[in-house]
Amino acid sequence: MPVYKAPVDETLFLLTDVFHIERYANLPGFADASPDLVEAILGEAGKFCEDVLAPLNRIGDTQGCRRHDDGRVTTPDGFADAYRKLVDGGWIGISVPPEVGGHGLPIALTQAVNEFLASANMAFAMYPELTQGAIAALYVHGTPEQKALYLPKMVSGEWAGTMNLTEPQCGTDLGLIRTKAAKQADGSYRITGAKIFISAGEHDLAANIVHLVLARIEGAPEGTRGLSLFVVPKFLPAADGAPGARNAVTCGAIEEKMGIHANATCVMNYDGATGWLIAQENHGLAAMFTMMNEARLVVGVQGLALSEVAYQNAAAYAKERLQGRALTGASAKDKPADPIIVHPDVRRTLMSIRAFNEAARALVMWTAITSDVAHRSDDAKARQAADDHMGLLTPVIKGVLTDTGFANTVAAQQVFGGHGYIKEWGMEQFVRDARIPMIYEGANGIQAHDLVGRKLAKDGGRALTAFFTEVQGYVKERAADAAMKPYVEPLGRALGHLQQATMWLAQNALAKPDNAGAGATDYMHLFGLVALGYMWARMARAAQEKLAAGGAGAAARMQAKLVTGRFFAERMLPETATHLARIQAGAASTMDLPAEAF
Ligand SMILES: Cc1cc2nc3c(=O)[nH]c(=O)nc-3n(C[C@H](O)[C@H](O)[C@H](O)COP(=O)(O)OP(=O)(O)OC[C@H]3O[C@@H](n4cnc5c(N)ncnc54)[C@H](O)[C@@H]3O)c2cc1C
Repeated sequence: MPVYKAPVDETLFLLTDVFHIERYANLPGFADASPDLVEAILGEAGKFCEDVLAPLNRIGDTQGCRRHDDGRVTTPDGFADAYRKLVDGGWIGISVPPEVGGHGLPIALTQAVNEFLASANMAFAMYPELTQGAIAALYVHGTPEQKALYLPKMVSGEWAGTMNLTEPQCGTDLGLIRTKAAKQADGSYRITGAKIFISAGEHDLAANIVHLVLARIEGAPEGTRGLSLFVVPKFLPAADGAPGARNAVTCGAIEEKMGIHANATCVMNYDGATGWLIAQENHGLAAMFTMMNEARLVVGVQGLALSEVAYQNAAAYAKERLQGRALTGASAKDKPADPIIVHPDVRRTLMSIRAFNEAARALVMWTAITSDVAHRSDDAKARQAADDHMGLLTPVIKGVLTDTGFANTVAAQQVFGGHGYIKEWGMEQFVRDARIPMIYEGANGIQAHDLVGRKLAKDGGRALTAFFTEVQGYVKERAADAAMKPYVEPLGRALGHLQQATMWLAQNALAKPDNAGAGATDYMHLFGLVALGYMWARMARAAQEKLAAGGAGAAARMQAKLVTGRFFAERMLPETATHLARIQAGAASTMDLPAEAF
């Protein structure tokens, strides 16, 4: 059975030594997050994921969800019990404001816990994660009555949430949505239409399911300008708030799919279901974007989570599996062969995954803290800067962490040779499960498009300029520090590539937008490498400081960090040059063939 150990120490290092969470004590909820409390929360979450969720991962994959003739859906054995434990632990609402029943703790804690959940059992993790997204949208856009009615129950996990955008004819292009909303005399709406691919659309984990549904009010404009957002509960809340009459929304089928078998992907039929408007008429997409932005970060974390669990298993296997001898001579002379971890090519694989995971986790923690500044700071300038950062980094985190996360599960599977292809070892499930985060929540090509087409030029390039200034400033500040040279010099070169790519797009994509489209994915990955390289520089600096302080117990881990950071700088960061060359090649060879030649 696959192993999993939640990276609690790694997360604590990031929060305490790299990002100094104590410096944000002026933000609501941060003063409560004492080092002891943070450690206790992460430790408890880790134990829950290791002991309860990880053992259910294979069972969930094998059994999958079952739809009954009456439309009910049953989750695999053990899921309902595990969900109850999740609810009892109060895990869903740890960062939700206390006024609606949450604990108000930093969002970084929620993202850390979400990583542990998805490493242990991604299909399970999706149920609470969707609820968290729906909570965010209702919290920002719901009426006071809607918030009072739904949020406390969703925050506790008693009720679950979903997001309903996709229809058979409408995926990326939400302007094609056909689901209709007809206004009723009592102010409610009758929702009619079919949604497909709805994650957690129906299940047996929660007493009620609160669907957030994009639909078009009769007579509304075509395209995305005519979309409104509705809250459509499975059971209509009775006067006392308890689940009342069954609403006319049912699960028509569940999809047979490649992975995440234990998460029900549903066709949802709305047959005149009762719903209530969230936000204003025809402003639904903006409201749904609150949920989608939240979900994009969570999906990025899923990419990291699967990369992490795949790495842990590959590293354990590489230390056990005996094949061949080290190039430098036998290392395990008492054994018939050496463990495969002696082979440089196996090391290359493990180091690449490890160097990505550690920096990706740092990028997530940095962005999560920034998200708290955006939501909680009383300083308008700080809020705006944080909001800019979120807008710029969200497509990078979603696209890069899931593309690379998937590639890493495949690389980790390779460490097992043929055994990685056999179900028993669990590696093929990680590969199958890691495939979907690249697709949903906006396929990764669309993330790249969002970054290049919208985020770069937004507000006169304010967010991009701030990012460049920060990284450039860090490189300059540390340039004379010999110990930091291995990290900041390559980072400076990589940043130069990103700036050249940006300049090239500014000069060559306005008149020829295909140049932007053809280079967008390379640009997103180039950006990701620079962001991860910056995270490595900051982690290396924190590790050096910790080593200099002579803290007990952490020396080996900090030395390992410095080596891993060097590996990233020497062997992964240089890929920025390739991305730059591809972008500067322009769109011609990509677009010159006529469509009929394909
Ligand atoms: C398991 C699973 C769970 C899901 N869960 C949910 C859910 O809970 N709620 C929900 O609403 N939806 C959900 N989805 C739907 C998912 O978000 C969509 O599949 C996704 O948005 C892509 O839409 P599509 O499949 O129609 O692909 P299309 O939009 O048809 O795109 C096909 C390909 O073309 C590319 N493409 C399309 N337009 C452009 C463009 N303008 N520029 C460049 N490239 C483009 C895309 O990147 C993609 O690679 C889920 C899907 C799956 C498989």
